[in-house]
Amino acid sequence: MKCRECDKHLVVQRRCRQVRLQCTGCRKEFRIHEIAADLDPETEAELERFTCIIYD
Ligand SMILES: [Zn+2]
Repeated sequence: MKCRECDKHLVVQRRCRQVRLQCTGCRKEFRIHEIAADLDPETEAELERFTCIIYD
């Protein structure tokens, strides 16, 4: 999915027990709940690999 700031691709980043989406352009990190409404199927599928992790 795209960054809402700069339209670059977001990648899933695992940080210990947390997951963030980080922009490959501006490096801004988003919490899952911040972008939950905008999640696309591709990103959702990627996040399903981290279901043991608590989304804060
Ligand atoms: Zn960005």
